[in-house]
Amino acid sequence: MESKYNAVVSSIVEVSPTMRIFRISPLGWELPDFVSGQFASLALTPQSPKAEPSEPDHESVKQDKLIKRVYSIASSSKAKDFIEFYISLVTSGALTPRLFALKIGDKLELGKRMVGMFTLEQVPKDNNVVLIATGTGVAPYISMLRSNILGKEGGNIVVIHGAAHSWDLGYRSELMLLDNISPRFSYFPTILEPEKEPVPWGGDTRFVQDMWIDDQIITKALGEKSTPENTHIFLCGNPRMVEAMFENLEKDGFVIHKKKAPGQIHVESWG
Ligand SMILES: Cc1cc2nc3c(=O)[nH]c(=O)nc-3n(C[C@H](O)[C@H](O)[C@H](O)COP(=O)(O)OP(=O)(O)OC[C@H]3O[C@@H](n4cnc5c(N)ncnc54)[C@H](O)[C@@H]3O)c2cc1C
Repeated sequence: MESKYNAVVSSIVEVSPTMRIFRISPLGWELPDFVSGQFASLALTPQSPKAEPSEPDHESVKQDKLIKRVYSIASSSKAKDFIEFYISLVTSGALTPRLFALKIGDKLELGKRMVGMFTLEQVPKDNNVVLIATGTGVAPYISMLRSNILGKEGGNIVVIHGAAHSWDLGYRSELMLLDNISPRFSYFPTILEPEKEPVPWGGDTRFVQDMWIDDQIITKALGEKSTPENTHIFLCGNPRMVEAMFENLEKDGFVIHKKKAPGQIHVESWG
């Protein structure tokens, strides 16, 4: 099938063999305004080549239909020349093996609507914000931080990021830098397979949900014990992490945030 692609790959950063940061620039149109935490769609035709390793397409892939998936935006809401995504390769998937075959200058379709409720808009200004992610789930938080939430008045901000290996902890340098320069920001990375590290890993090796139970690190970073009155929690990534964190938080009195019933737990699950 033919497609009139409306965007071009303007940068690719290989975080690890299965994780890449893509910058996509619009061709002849302006990126619409969006709020950090929202997502946009990317699409390619089924005829576009796939990277190796990948598995044969599932029968749900139709030869006359674009393959379209949504991705959380990692760039600042102020960036207008490009939009950034942090994407992991699913070898059995339809779109990601095709995205991983793209080179700088290749074209694709970028959805013109950026949507989603996983934003800081409903968080009271003086509340703390705890941003918890696994893998590429850190992307929406990078957009929030790049859009300068630390420049506004408010509570303290914590990022807890879990991955299998240290080399999967995308944006680690940026988050470490913020931790160093901002007294209001703390970054806690954790990896689950320390035995595979080429140099010994001196940091955390627990599941993020177990780090939350170890109340001391969070209390120290926030400067107070987190309660539903003073803290909002964001969860993004692996559905098992989201479920386990949800159980922890419910015990502490936190409730899920809904449009018509405000709460303190905000969830973006990619299951
Ligand atoms: C709001 C939101 C934001 C997201 N943000 C990100 C992000 O920032 N980064 C990121 O990496 N991902 C993100 N995702 C996930 C992303 O949208 C895709 O789901 C992911 O990239 C996989 O796409 P794919 O086309 O490669 O795999 P898919 O083709 O969707 O396949 C996924 C799995 O399902 C199986 N499968 C597919 N079709 C069938 C079928 N018909 N029957 C049975 N099994 C099937 C495949 O074999 C594979 O194992 C986000 C998802 C949501 C909902």
